[in-house]
This record gives sequence, structure tokens and C-alpha cells, in this order.
Amino acid sequence: MPTARRKAARRPKAGRFVPASGVDAGGARKRIPRIQAALDRAYPKARTALHWRTPFELLVATILSAQCTDDTVNRATPALFRRFPDAAALARADLREVEGLVRSTGFFRQKAKAIVACARGLVDRFGGEVPRSVEALVTLPGAARKTANVVLSNCWPRPASDHGIFVDTHVRRVSQRLALTAEEDPERVEQELQRLVPASKWADFPHQLVLLGRGPCEARKPRHADCPLLRFCPTGLEASSAADDRPRVRRRR
Ligand code: SF4
Repeated sequence: MPTARRKAARRPKAGRFVPASGVDAGGARKRIPRIQAALDRAYPKARTALHWRTPFELLVATILSAQCTDDTVNRATPALFRRFPDAAALARADLREVEGLVRSTGFFRQKAKAIVACARGLVDRFGGEVPRSVEALVTLPGAARKTANVVLSNCWPRPASDHGIFVDTHVRRVSQRLALTAEEDPERVEQELQRLVPASKWADFPHQLVLLGRGPCEARKPRHADCPLLRFCPTGLEASSAADDRPRVRRRR
């Protein structure tokens, strides 16, 4: 393969929501304090929409939330946690019974297997308690990096634990539209956001982007005019100026 083509093949794919003007790291660094201030005003108490009372419950709920909505998980977990209130109880559970309780969340066989294995891991290696580090959490079945960051940022926001910025589909899309990153890979998006956002905001920031992504910055038809971040968002500003430049068509009477 010629060198230029080999280099292009190695280059990571740019995200599909990145604005036409691209991502300028210096510009992103200048905009980030105003973006954060606007997010703090619009979404001052942003945290997960999953219902939980203990770190164990949040860990299980987060594993169940893969490929389904938080509302669906919230409808399934009360019965699950009544029957299996902690890691010790879930570790001893009959798999068929757990499958029945999580059936509505989709992929229920894999999810039931994952949460029972996760509970066994908690009991066998962590005394039945959820560990407070990303490194330890990701060793548990069903708990990838995003899960670890969600659990720790809700249960023990920095500096009480070492969580990073979790990256889900909303965080990635909104970050690209705000021209904070051009990356697609969640771990690269996480690293880039962590270079921009102060560590004291690593719990708030992704939860605020999720609310923005479920609100005006929805995937298909973002409502730029309703968005509290419009003034600092290259995608929104490009769309607004394109709309202004569009020739007005006069209606014939
Ligand atoms: S201005 Fe538009 S693209 Fe930018 S964050 Fe808001 S809704 Fe999303």
C-alpha cells in the first residue's frame, strides 16, 4: 500500500457530528469556561436518571442500562432489588429467576449472567462492597470503563474516587457538535475532554451533556434556537448562519 494511503488508513475516523469548521484545540480551551458556566446554569443538579440507593444498586442498574432506556431499567430494578438486595444475595441467585426479573431490559440472558457474575466478583474479591477505583471496577464482569465512571462519579465524585468523564452516545455526539473533540472512540473522547475540563467537574460535565443530548441537542434534529449553548457552539452557529443566508422565496398571490 502506498505510504499516503497507509497513513490515511491508520488515522482515526473523525466523528460524524463534528462541524464543518472542524475542531481547534486552542479555540476549545478558550470556550470551555463559558460552556461550563452555561451548563451549570441550565443543569445545576445533573446526575444519573437511574434510580439507586446503594453503590451496588447503581452498578447493577448501569450494567442493565446497556442498549435500553433508563426508564425501562427503573421499572425493572425495584423487584430485582427487593429479591436480591445486596451482592451476597445476587451472587447466590438462580440465573433463571434473575433472567425473568430483567427480561424487559433486553438481552436479558447476557445481562442476568453479567450481574450475577459481577455480584460473585464483588463477594469473592471485594468483601461484597463496590470498590472505589476504576482499575478495580473494570475487572468485574459486565463493568467496562463507562460503567465504572458512571458508578464512581455518582457515588463518590472526585476527589472521593478516581473516576474519569464517562462517555456514552450523548456525551460523544454533543462534544463533537460543540467542537471539543473530533474523536469517535469513547476512550479517546474521554482523554480529550479530560484535557479540557477541570477534574473537579468530571462528575457534573458528562451528566450535563446527557441532559443536553436528551433535550435540545437530540441526534436527528437538534433545536439550536432552544439551546443554552448556542453562542458557544460552532455547529449551532453554522446552522443559524446558513439559515440566515438562505434566499427568501416570495409567495405568489
Ligand atoms: S447549539 Fe445546537 S448543536 Fe450546539 S449544543 Fe446546542 S443543540 Fe447541540
